[in-house]
Amino acid sequence: MSVWFVTGASRGLGLEIAKAALASGESVVATARDPQEIEKALPGHAEKLLALPLDVTSERQADEAVQAAVARFGTIDVLVNNAGRGLVGAVEETSDAEARAVFDINVFGLMTVLRAVTPIMRAAGSGRILNISSTGGVVAWAGWGVYSATKFALEGITEALRLELAPLGIQVTSVQPGPLRTDFLASTSLSHVSRVIDDYAATGGASREWAQASHGQQEGDPVKAAQAILTIAAADEMPARLPLGTSTLSDIRTKLAAVGADLEKWQELSRSTDV
Ligand code: NDP
Repeated sequence: MSVWFVTGASRGLGLEIAKAALASGESVVATARDPQEIEKALPGHAEKLLALPLDVTSERQADEAVQAAVARFGTIDVLVNNAGRGLVGAVEETSDAEARAVFDINVFGLMTVLRAVTPIMRAAGSGRILNISSTGGVVAWAGWGVYSATKFALEGITEALRLELAPLGIQVTSVQPGPLRTDFLASTSLSHVSRVIDDYAATGGASREWAQASHGQQEGDPVKAAQAILTIAAADEMPARLPLGTSTLSDIRTKLAAVGADLEKWQELSRSTDV
């Protein structure tokens, strides 16, 4: 049995991952800004569950949570960097503070948790890290540019981390869910930019309307997504990326085809710049 460490486990996908891992007999360190939410959602797991406070933007809380996890269970085998939130609005509509705030959670917060957990895995010479990215880590849509930028950043970090940690016995995967029926699009999770520019009504504005209309209608089931994450974490060799959901598969294929078509079309110009 292994020890899981999950961020953003108060609700949504993180809570389902914690639940599924407990149901499989794993020990789970479930972390959240308010750990009481976890205790309420997962009663009766005293032996296998440790609920801890962790706002991923706090280096101190990350270090303390890892220390408490190791004190309780001896190690951390599987890290799921799940905590994150969305931001909807056209790129120009997004203020500096709004952009930085979402990067602080989705990118710098993830790096903070990585710096706290990887020393434990390096010392053990083993471990698995699953970073929760998004279809938006591969494809950017109008109105989601800054959120996508955080997930593109996460993709870059994950791809390099995979190369850096493989020789040390640690496997790394990027999980790319499509729309999941969680609170992600709800006002309790999704931030809207405060400045609205009429010129972006058909792009950024349409995405705001889509987000409101789509909450509760998303095609992806977070319970099944959590199960898929458990499956991939148990694979002998985890893939570099795991897309989740039918629309994710087709969105990524469409993107790859467009990238391939541009490569073909402009390859002579691309080659012409060699010294
Ligand atoms: P939810 O809004 O339901 O849950 C988000 C979770 O992240 C909550 O537990 C929330 O905690 C936590 N969180 C937010 N900020 C912080 C922080 N600073 N420190 C610690 N925890 C934090 O959304 P999902 O469950 O859907 O989202 C989980 C992950 O999946 C995110 O990374 C998201 O980007 C990604 N994703 C989601 C998709 C979707 O359609 N749902 C699609 C693709 C990717 P709190 O309760 O304290 O707010």
